[in-house]
Amino acid sequence: MKPYAEMTREELLELKKELKGKYKDMQALALKLDMSRGKPCTAQLDLSMGMMAVLNEDTELRSEDGTDCRNYGVLTGIPEALELMGDMMEVPYDHIILYGNSSLNVMYDTISRSYTHGVMGSTPWCKLDKVKFLCVVPGYDRHFAITEYFGIENIPVPMLPTGPDMNIVEKLVAEDEAIKGIWCVPKYSNPTGNSYSDETVRRMARLKPAAKDFRIYWDNAYTIHHLYDHDQDTIIEILAECKRAGNPDLVYKFASTSKVSFPGSGIAALASSLNNLEDIKKQLKVQTIGHDKVNQLRHVRFFEDIHGMVEHMRKHADILRPKFEMVEEILDRELGGLGIGTWTKPKGGYFISFDTLEGCAKKVVSRCAKAGVIMTSAGATWPGGKDPHDSNIRIAPSFPPLNDLRIAAELFTLCVKYVSVEKLLA
Ligand code: PLP
Repeated sequence: MKPYAEMTREELLELKKELKGKYKDMQALALKLDMSRGKPCTAQLDLSMGMMAVLNEDTELRSEDGTDCRNYGVLTGIPEALELMGDMMEVPYDHIILYGNSSLNVMYDTISRSYTHGVMGSTPWCKLDKVKFLCVVPGYDRHFAITEYFGIENIPVPMLPTGPDMNIVEKLVAEDEAIKGIWCVPKYSNPTGNSYSDETVRRMARLKPAAKDFRIYWDNAYTIHHLYDHDQDTIIEILAECKRAGNPDLVYKFASTSKVSFPGSGIAALASSLNNLEDIKKQLKVQTIGHDKVNQLRHVRFFEDIHGMVEHMRKHADILRPKFEMVEEILDRELGGLGIGTWTKPKGGYFISFDTLEGCAKKVVSRCAKAGVIMTSAGATWPGGKDPHDSNIRIAPSFPPLNDLRIAAELFTLCVKYVSVEKLLA
């Protein structure tokens, strides 16, 4: 079929009639499917059930250094868990703090502390007239929600296939002291699935922010979440790069095992310079006596080391890969060459990012919903839920079973066609 933009009005009207018929047929199926949630499916969760068996009432719950993990204490994490998370995050174990069950929670705490107490002695943000944050778009709605919650102005910066548009980032942070940070998902980004190029990471590490309390919020949520064994993205390790660039305190790096073991019951961690960690610990020791060491021990006993974790991630990939490939195959087959949408083909992570013709995303999502398929709301990938182009839609293939996913993806492509024809006829 030729590109829609090259069709005559008559051809488009004919096509619309055909698509409407197909859409009605799909509606009659009374589907109830969900392609909105970026969470592991049941089979993925089952992979970690062995974790339940590594500890029982006879297990010695002492860590390597003799700490009784059943009791209070150990602010930053037990040594063997620090080592495991350090290997996963590619940083030395003494540059990490282990937290509770959610990295998003750590990010919230980091913003909250900066807001009430400032960063390494600088003015708390709550005492400033204006605080701004850069948000790479399309991006992760929960990042944007945190800064929005604190009344911080979110400023969109375009995501390119190589990462954020660094010309814009460099200019903005150098000019405006009110800009205190940037939200980044550097690897298999949510939602584009793209990873930052070496040049982007190098330029990030060499930023010259006007604000001395500016920090890069480097959320490496998908650091070992590859779909393929032999075709993987790698990115330059940012802490070391910042150090090389003479900017050692510029970055906070976040990660968790949410999509390695169990979302909501994993281990979250923050890695940064020793100076930043000292600053953070002043608050942390007031906030808690220590996080869940039994869970830390459970993770180490289950995975043993980073090799065990990498092996485990291969099993996740074996479940996820067919889902991603099937969605991509349907997008290619149904929409390839029509000029009514573009989409990413990630090699890892949890999402595919789809861009409709300008002004169509909301309608596509709504048409899908009316035929029983829930997509992430259009606009969710932009601060405030407002996509000025109304074009971006996040596709989350991980959760539904393959057969449901096939039907959902087919309905999605039908809705994209239907709404695009309507737009071209308007
Ligand atoms: N960061 C990104 C980029 C995510 O996509 C998600 C979950 O989808 C999270 C963080 C949540 O992480 P956690 O479960 O550690 O809070």
